[in-house]
Amino acid sequence: MLVSSLNRRVEERALDWTGGCLCGAVRYRATAEPIRAVHCHCGMCRRESGAAFLTHVHFPIAAFAWTQGEPTRYQSSAEAGRGFCRRCGSTLTMHETVLDDRVQVTLGSLDRPEGVRPQDHVWTESQLPWLKIDDDLPRFQRISSAVPSRALDGEDT
Ligand SMILES: [Zn+2]
Ligand SMILES: [Zn+2]
Repeated sequence: MLVSSLNRRVEERALDWTGGCLCGAVRYRATAEPIRAVHCHCGMCRRESGAAFLTHVHFPIAAFAWTQGEPTRYQSSAEAGRGFCRRCGSTLTMHETVLDDRVQVTLGSLDRPEGVRPQDHVWTESQLPWLKIDDDLPRFQRISSAVPSRALDGEDT
């Protein structure tokens, strides 16, 4: 009895992914393991984040909730919107119409990003030439074979 309730608590904590923005006005919680995590080197992610590339962590939308505030959404293309904190400007989410079963949060907004295992790199044709990444992950010039995307049509997401 005691052991099983302890196990349950450990399990719940393991599945509890929390995060938020720099100022704390926006917070979220996901209670499922990430579906996927991907490094994106596209020019839009670079521009939006101000970083050399941006890593998105996908959680099932059914297991995801905003626990404080909500991001402001910017519609960056016909197929995708991007969420940010309107107070501090932190880059927080991406929402793609073809992936409406999930919320994509930025890796850096997670409280324990070290627990995520990214799966691949996408849009490497736009990767900065001086950026050297020493990993063995699959690399895709554009989109990954792991997920559907309208980015195939040339629409950079
Ligand atoms: Zn904020
Ligand atoms: Zn991108």
